[in-house]
Amino acid sequence: MTATAPITQDVLTIPRKLSEGPVNLVGLTRERLRDALVSAGTPEKQAKMRVAQIWQWIYQKGVRDFDAMTNLSKAYRADLAEGFAIEVPEVVTRQISDDGTRKYLVRIAGGHEVETVYIPEEGRGTLCISSQVGCTLTCSFCHTGTQKLVRNLTAAEIVGQIMIARDDLGEWPEPGRNPKDETRLLSNIVLMGMGEPLYNFDAVRDAMRIAMDGEGISLSRRRITLSTSGVVPEIARTAKEIGCLLAVSFHATTDEVRDKLVPINKKWNIETLLVALRDYPRLSNSERITFEYVMLKDVNDSDADARRLIDLIKGIPAKINLIPFNEWPGAPYDRSSNNRIRAFADIIYKAGYASPIRTPRGEDIMAACGQLKSETERARKSRAQIAAEAGLAGS
Ligand code: SAH
Ligand code: SF4
Repeated sequence: MTATAPITQDVLTIPRKLSEGPVNLVGLTRERLRDALVSAGTPEKQAKMRVAQIWQWIYQKGVRDFDAMTNLSKAYRADLAEGFAIEVPEVVTRQISDDGTRKYLVRIAGGHEVETVYIPEEGRGTLCISSQVGCTLTCSFCHTGTQKLVRNLTAAEIVGQIMIARDDLGEWPEPGRNPKDETRLLSNIVLMGMGEPLYNFDAVRDAMRIAMDGEGISLSRRRITLSTSGVVPEIARTAKEIGCLLAVSFHATTDEVRDKLVPINKKWNIETLLVALRDYPRLSNSERITFEYVMLKDVNDSDADARRLIDLIKGIPAKINLIPFNEWPGAPYDRSSNNRIRAFADIIYKAGYASPIRTPRGEDIMAACGQLKSETERARKSRAQIAAEAGLAGS
């Protein structure tokens, strides 16, 4: 990777096929769900109540079958089944790591695949979800960034990842008996899987609003963290329209190095990014911003880097998450030594910041950050083959 590398790679962008079948109710906001019901003949006067009932069945009880919605009349249930579906993506494989991490390979419409990772920890469980198939950006240390096939996930496919994890964990609570966040198996969400969430803003926002809705999955906005490589124009919108916590893939302390590691820096450089980050906590009423920093041997891991980092983020309520580089076949970097990571962490800690070193999880199943890449791609299919399978032959 040279300094002249493009910000986005030469990808094959797969359009979503407009489905001809019944409308999927999963992923619709309350307003859209209401419109869908009304246009299918539900009387306006009843619409609000019907939305509330169906919403609870889908997102609070995990029901996928209209027939199980026993507080609706038989005739109405039949009408719903006629025009609508309740569909989540299909789990193709599930791998469980020695440390309990679960990685799901998930198939979405068109036959594409993404990965979702569940990470159990003391007192909480975090689901790492994907927002795109692949990624258009080209961060030079990231496996996903080498994937040539890209499409945005729909809101249904994003919130669907939460629903299939809940299915697998057996965690659909009884109504009125929502467990406390602290005792939930799935208590936190991080948008740190495949893709750049801020390049799929509307679907990510709608999916997260569904996840936060108090009559459904009911996760607090403070338990959702969105990670961005630094799509500056969308950061203020994230604060206003989602209000979740923010993590930023910072990774370097000079524009020269960041241009190479996170090429979107050539569009919005460190200074521009920091201006947007300074406003974030005020706009979103959130606490600290997480600065993610991947530790790459002899690239960005010197004491001088640690000191520059502290200077740059002065005044921003921050926590710095040091990520030992997760290697993947053919990666052009090495992981910094443990001693180097500790020395770097120490400088940051002494400056008054929390500087946790992220323990790589699920390494034996390639589930760690930045290692995600779909099986379709790993099989090294040709572009033509992929295009043909996606129904795009000749395009
Ligand atoms: N596209 C978003 C979110 C997905 S990546 C973003 O870039 O922020 C989640 C985190 O893992 C990011 O901080 C990313 O930079 C980091 N990451 C990517 N590849 C990695 C690797 N091989 N080792 C360690 N961290 C990596
Ligand atoms: Fe995309 Fe994030 Fe990977 Fe960069 S680090 S290529 S933005 S997924």
